[in-house]
Amino acid sequence: MNIGILGGGQLSRMLALSGIPLGLDFSFFEPGKENCVSRLGKVVQKPYTDIDAITAFIKDCDVITFENENIPPKTVETIANLKPMHPNALSLQTTQDRLLEKSLFAELGIPTVAYQSIENLEDLKSFIVEHQYPVVLKKRRQGYDGKGQVKLTCEDDLNKLEPSQLSDAIVEQFIQFTREVSMIAVRNTKGELAYYDICENVHKHGILHVTQNKVEDPLFTQAKTLIDKVLQHLDYVGTLAFEFFAVNNKLYANELAPRVHNSGHWTIEGTQTSQFENHLRAILGLSLGNTESLGPYQMLNLLGKIPNYEHLISFDSLHLHDYQKTARSGRKVGHVTLPLTAKTNDYLPELTKLIAL
Ligand code: AMP
Repeated sequence: MNIGILGGGQLSRMLALSGIPLGLDFSFFEPGKENCVSRLGKVVQKPYTDIDAITAFIKDCDVITFENENIPPKTVETIANLKPMHPNALSLQTTQDRLLEKSLFAELGIPTVAYQSIENLEDLKSFIVEHQYPVVLKKRRQGYDGKGQVKLTCEDDLNKLEPSQLSDAIVEQFIQFTREVSMIAVRNTKGELAYYDICENVHKHGILHVTQNKVEDPLFTQAKTLIDKVLQHLDYVGTLAFEFFAVNNKLYANELAPRVHNSGHWTIEGTQTSQFENHLRAILGLSLGNTESLGPYQMLNLLGKIPNYEHLISFDSLHLHDYQKTARSGRKVGHVTLPLTAKTNDYLPELTKLIAL
């Protein structure tokens, strides 16, 4: 079986690394000059809008999937008409637009923070009159890792906004959450479901910094009920990540990612079947693997560059993932995962300091 993946970043790399032992082959379609999958299969470097290139690419593929939801609608439509594609077009269209995503939450009765669609400064001002500062202004499309969004705390902040920030956007009330959590679930073509532990996530400047799975988290059942609604409604196939704000014991939807997710990287070592392997099983119509965690794990992202490789690899029980990317400030270039034990707890402060450098 040859799996075609749109995107050639670290998520595609980890999908391939999990599928190669199962005897699967991979082809990648990556518009950018750089990729981290060239050793793992054929790579086509063309824009996503090149429909001829897309059509030629998918010819040799048995099934198509994505590592990134920002694929142009015409490309999605072309693929869906020619080959099995998971997740489906509806899932991609809904999750690539924050306004459609919020409307889905409303339709399914899923609690979310107060929000409004924004086309000009007047829309924004009227929302602020009703809901007060602080608020978060977000572009409807192409936003990830805090890109395309800004927190507004006073009138002065409004004067600094560019006209482009004030159209095709949404504004949200800033929520004082107790914690940020995510749930990752998988649904296969037969409708079978599997769920991973809830993950507790810490972001810095909008980018995920640390994730820890919470074995038997009290919010597990609530999260499962909410993600089930989305999975069923979209007839979703593959791995889906649902990010929430938790305020005490209540979950508010933040956003969905129709793909494998950074907060699920710990599943490579922390479960018997990772989010990556289960995504492949799901889209191929195979039974899903066991998602039970092997205990509490922590995953820390490596941003900018891999800090002191030899030192990093010397920590007991630590698993290093180097995405083989060129160093660049703020870029996700790798991650580490470790089980939380008395031994690893001892060195966590030293590790955290090394990574922060
Ligand atoms: P997003 O890309 O929407 O997931 O936003 C990135 C990060 O910004 C989130 O993980 C939160 O840490 C923070 N954030 C986004 N929206 C809000 C909000 N409405 N209230 C509080 N924090 C937010």
